[in-house]
Amino acid sequence: MLTSAPYSLYRSFLFLLGFLTLGACEDKNSSQSAEPESEEVRGVYGSPKPLWDKGYQLDEIGVNAIFVHSGSIQAEMLKRAQSEGVRVFTEFATLNGKNYVEKHPEAWAINEKGEPVEAAGWFMGVCPTEPGFRRYRFDQLRDLLTNYELDGVWMDYVHWHAQFEEPEPILPETCFCDHCLGRFSNEKSIELPVGSTAEKARWVLSQEDRKWREWRCQIILEWAVEMKKIIQEIRPGALLGLYHCPWEDQEFEGARRRILGLDYDLLKETIDVFSPMVYHERMGRRPEWVEENINWFCERLALGKEASPKIWPIVQAHDSPGIVYPEAFKTVLSGGQAGCSSGVMMFTTRAIAEKEEKLEVVKKIYQNQSSQ
Ligand SMILES: [Zn+2]
Repeated sequence: MLTSAPYSLYRSFLFLLGFLTLGACEDKNSSQSAEPESEEVRGVYGSPKPLWDKGYQLDEIGVNAIFVHSGSIQAEMLKRAQSEGVRVFTEFATLNGKNYVEKHPEAWAINEKGEPVEAAGWFMGVCPTEPGFRRYRFDQLRDLLTNYELDGVWMDYVHWHAQFEEPEPILPETCFCDHCLGRFSNEKSIELPVGSTAEKARWVLSQEDRKWREWRCQIILEWAVEMKKIIQEIRPGALLGLYHCPWEDQEFEGARRRILGLDYDLLKETIDVFSPMVYHERMGRRPEWVEENINWFCERLALGKEASPKIWPIVQAHDSPGIVYPEAFKTVLSGGQAGCSSGVMMFTTRAIAEKEEKLEVVKKIYQNQSSQ
């Protein structure tokens, strides 16, 4: 190894030169760089391919960020998106795992009757405390961050087993597996009665309901904290985002916290960007509801545009279920930029690429903002 003094001196000089150069013209595409604070995020959710296939460059539409499912990310896609001046974030399906529980029944969530839960629509929540599953997911995240130069990871499906994306949500009581009951008992210093799982569950829900809900929220937070730790270790500077249920505190008898386990007051310390999933058509709401919901969220968390955490909602452009007409799409896309929001994206890229009128809406709003 070369360790002579002149060489070290030369190396220090090169390092300093590199440092100064980086400072002078910071690479806006590098995930290591600081986030450009002032620029609003004009995002699309889904692979950008449908837009590229139509002959567009992302920057000519005004798009400056893409959010792509972790399974769809490819080196070529990343390279081209970055060459078009676009930041690349990936969606990371966190607690949804039908295939996983089928192969690993020990991670199947258990209901209050002591039985394995049924799928909640197309969602199958894995038990969030099962150690083997935790290792599996965290390893997947490490691989993803090591293989791709991403600007951030957006956790999806971070909640206890349930389905909130339908007008009639499915809201079961879970999880009463041995891991969950054991951790609850230890961490809250509560001695559980002897008996069957169903008897223990009944006792917990009738005697320690408040602490049970609190503990479940802490488990969800723990996932966010672990994931942030991994991001900071492998790709410091990359953002941790969260796609989440947009219900207000009292909706469905407080089910966002009570059943899903989402406590904003806990999560806001760890999450860099909240992305409420304001899918108006899917959830049976008016298009104007999007703006109302975002304003509520900003007020509820006392968020400002420049402060952290940030809010970049995801709105619905996709036609199923229901039809999202261009006029309604315009209302929800603008609504997603209301209040303290500093960015927006739509579900999905394909939905706008396939309908010329919807793409026109995006162009009009995004191009106008990108030229400001
Ligand atoms: Zn469990």
